[in-house]
Amino acid sequence: MGLHMSKCPNCGNEATKIVKEWNYSIFHVKNFNCTTCQKNFKAYFKQGKFSHIIDSTQRKPIYSVIQYLKKHDSARAEEIAEAENLSVAEVIKMLEELEKKGIVESITT
Ligand SMILES: [Zn+2]
Repeated sequence: MGLHMSKCPNCGNEATKIVKEWNYSIFHVKNFNCTTCQKNFKAYFKQGKFSHIIDSTQRKPIYSVIQYLKKHDSARAEEIAEAENLSVAEVIKMLEELEKKGIVESITT
C-alpha cells in the first residue's frame, strides 16, 4: 500500500483512507481523509510518483487561482488578481509555480 499512503499536511500522520481518486490533467489525484484529525486533503501523483499536496481545508490563494482557471479557459493575470482580490505580482508568481508543475499550460501576461 506504500503508493497509496500520504502524510497529512495538518497533523503529519500517515493518512490511509482514500475517499476518492480521479485523473486531473497529467495527474492522478487521491482525496485522502486523515483518520487522526479528520481533515481532507488531495495528493497529486505524476506518472506514479508523488508530486504535491493541496490542502482544501485551508484555502490558499493558489487554490482560488486554479479554480478561476478551471472556470475560465484562459485568463490574464490582471483579471484573476481582480476577481480573487490578489495583487497582480502574487498571481504571476503563482501562475509561474503552476506552470512549473505542469498545471498551467502557458502564461500570457
Ligand atoms: Zn491529520
